[in-house]
Amino acid sequence: MDATQSTPVTSNISVRRGDPLVVMKDVDKHYGELHVLRDINAVVNRGEVVVVIGPSGSGKSTLCRVINRLETIDSGLITIDGQPLPAEGRALAHLRADVGMVFQAFNLFAHKTVLENVTLGPIKVRGLSKVAAEKKALLLLERVGVADQAKKMPAQLSGGQQQRVAIARALAMEPKLILLDEPTSALDPEMINEVLEVMVDLANDGMTMIVVTHEMGFARKAANRVIFMAEGEIVEEATPEQFFTNPQSTRAKDFLSKIL
Ligand code: ADP
Ligand code: MG
Repeated sequence: MDATQSTPVTSNISVRRGDPLVVMKDVDKHYGELHVLRDINAVVNRGEVVVVIGPSGSGKSTLCRVINRLETIDSGLITIDGQPLPAEGRALAHLRADVGMVFQAFNLFAHKTVLENVTLGPIKVRGLSKVAAEKKALLLLERVGVADQAKKMPAQLSGGQQQRVAIARALAMEPKLILLDEPTSALDPEMINEVLEVMVDLANDGMTMIVVTHEMGFARKAANRVIFMAEGEIVEEATPEQFFTNPQSTRAKDFLSKIL
């Protein structure tokens, strides 16, 4: 099915930057008895920054993981750029390259240098030469402010530096969108801002981003939309301003009263 023909999720929010890039239609997923995604309908448009917020266990990570098919869904449809997610093989590798993912725990390749972490995907999946991949990687490491760490191993870097390398690694694939799942939650407080600044820079640059985070400052500065999840459902969708100042649902009010 062509994503542009599917019904967009009802929303009165005017910030719609581009055409639909990610479309989730009636998506359901269980882990055994646990109904972890319940009838998810969502659209992320090209160039949009969507912040996903919600209590622990509400399905935020699963939502990210089904979009790049780290997890399968039981029913429904997910398309990226109008194409259903491929199930396997080379097409799946390309999907994963098109949908960059940054995890809470950095997940860099521990036995490879910073530079190798960033060049590996472009060489293997995108077919770049080593020279071209390194040139590009150094520019990206420069952009996220860690070019001087290129020869080191990940463990020699601070958490904030590692997470910036992880972002550079995702960017090196020239992804269509980036999913960031609580990218600052594992960081010491003094390192959170250096990562958020890189994320704001990406958002300003027009990158399509889905960001699971409770960093209200980031949401206010960079997000076009906030999606609030609880118990596997999208409960509320609003602009950051609307959501943080005037949440509509009891569950969102409860949640915000605990984190703010
Ligand atoms: P969140 O990111 O919002 O904290 P998750 O998407 O990680 O939520 O998890 C949603 C629910 O699914 C939780 O109850 C969690 O324990 C459960 N869950 C997550 N991953 C798995 C898995 N691989 N197997 C079984 N249950 C899982
Ligand atoms: Mg999570």
